Amino acid sequence: MRLRTFESFWLLKNGLLYTYPSIQKDISTEIVVVGGGITGALTSHALVEKGYKVTLIDKRDIGQGSSSATTSMLQYEIDVPLSELSTMIGAYAAAQCYKAGIEAINKLGQLVKENKIDCGFEKKESLYIAHNEEAAQSLYEEFEIRNKCQLGVKWLKPEEILKIYGLKSFGGILSQTAASVDAYKLAHELIHYNVNRGMTVFDQTELKDFDFSAEKTIITSSEGHKISCKKVIFCSGFESTKMIKEDIAKLFYTYACVSEKEIKIPKKLKNTLVWDTNEPYLYMRTTDDGRLLVGGEDSSVNFPFFQQQIKESKTSKLIQTLEEIMPDIKFIEDFSWGGTFGSTKDGLPYIGKSPEFEHALFVLSFGG
Ligand SMILES: Cc1cc2nc3c(=O)[nH]c(=O)nc-3n(C[C@H](O)[C@H](O)[C@H](O)COP(=O)(O)OP(=O)(O)OC[C@H]3O[C@@H](n4cnc5c(N)ncnc54)[C@H](O)[C@@H]3O)c2cc1C
Repeated sequence: MRLRTFESFWLLKNGLLYTYPSIQKDISTEIVVVGGGITGALTSHALVEKGYKVTLIDKRDIGQGSSSATTSMLQYEIDVPLSELSTMIGAYAAAQCYKAGIEAINKLGQLVKENKIDCGFEKKESLYIAHNEEAAQSLYEEFEIRNKCQLGVKWLKPEEILKIYGLKSFGGILSQTAASVDAYKLAHELIHYNVNRGMTVFDQTELKDFDFSAEKTIITSSEGHKISCKKVIFCSGFESTKMIKEDIAKLFYTYACVSEKEIKIPKKLKNTLVWDTNEPYLYMRTTDDGRLLVGGEDSSVNFPFFQQQIKESKTSKLIQTLEEIMPDIKFIEDFSWGGTFGSTKDGLPYIGKSPEFEHALFVLSFGG
C-alpha cells in the first residue's frame, strides 16, 4: 500500500530551501511580482538588476507550483515546429522566436555562472528523433528550414543515432544549443540572492483582489492586507488561465519518472536531451546526479480520485516506450510524478499586457 504519492523528485531531493514570512500589514512598494516559481524568480531578478524596489508574493511556499515538477529540459525549440510557426506568424518572426530561445539558454547559463548559483545547470545538445518513416520526412524538411536559419543543427541518420545514442529511430535533428537545470533550486537560490539585495518576499500570501482605478494600484491579500504599488507583474503560472477570460492556453496533464542512480547509458546520451515526434511524445535527459529522467504521456484526462492509478499506469507506459526504442536499457524507477502543463496555440509564451488588465503585465511561460 502506498501512503503518499505525487511529490516531485526535485522537492524530495532539495527539501524546502528557504521560507519567508507571510504579509502581516499594509505596505507600499514599486513593483509587485505575483508568483515565486522560475518565472517570478527570473522576472524579479531582472527588475532588481534595473534598480526597482520589488516585492514578490506567493500563495504557496516558494517554488511549490509547476517549477517543482518540471523536468527542466531547456530547449530553444518549442513544441510547434519552425515550419508550422512560420505559417502562423511569418518566416522572419518565427526564426526570431527560435533564435530568442537560443539566446535565452545562453543568457541563463551566464546568469548562473556569474552569480555562482548551484542548481545543476548543464549545457547540452538536443536530439529530436522521428518515430516513423512519415515523421522522418517532415522532420527532415524541418531540419532544412532550421539549417537555412542557421540554428546550429545537423541531420543524423538512423544508424548514426543507434550507434552514438543507442536509440532506435528514423533519423533526427541534432541541435547544438540546449541545457538542463534544477529549476526548483534555481528559483529558490535566485530569489534568496535578490532578498539579500533588498527584495521583499512574502510566501503563503495570496493576491485575492486588485484595484487599478486609483492613482496607485492597490492589491489585497486573502487576509485583507493591502500593497500599494506602481505595477503588478503576474508570473502566476498555469493557474492564471482562471483570471484571464481570453482562451490563451489548453491545459493537460503530463508525467515524468527518474531512474535509480548510475544507470548504464551511452556516454553521449549523458550530454543530450532527447525527444521524439510521437503523440504523446517521449522525452529524456540525465540528471546531474547520474539518473535518467523520462517524461511525456500527456493526457487531457485527469480524474483526481484515480490520480495514483493513472500515474502508475502512465509511468509503466513511459518505461515500456523507452525500452522499445532503447532495448539495451535497464531502467529501475526511483521516483515518478505528474503535473499540469499548458500550451498556447502557437507554442509561444504569453508575455505583456492583457486587454482585460491594462495596468498589469503577464509573464506566462506556457509550453515551458
Ligand atoms: C511533469 C512536468 C514536466 C515539465 N517539463 C518541462 C520541461 O522539460 N521544460 C520546460 O520548459 N517546462 C516543463 N514543464 C513546464 C514547467 O513546469 C512550467 O512551464 C514552469 O515551471 C512554469 O513556471 P512558472 O514560474 O511560470 O509557474 P509556477 O512554478 O507554477 O509558479 C507560479 C506561482 O504563482 C503562484 N500563484 C498563483 N496564483 C497566485 C495568487 N493569486 N497569489 C499569489 N501567488 C499565486 C503559485 O503558487 C506558484 O508558486 C513541465 C511541467 C511538468 C508538470
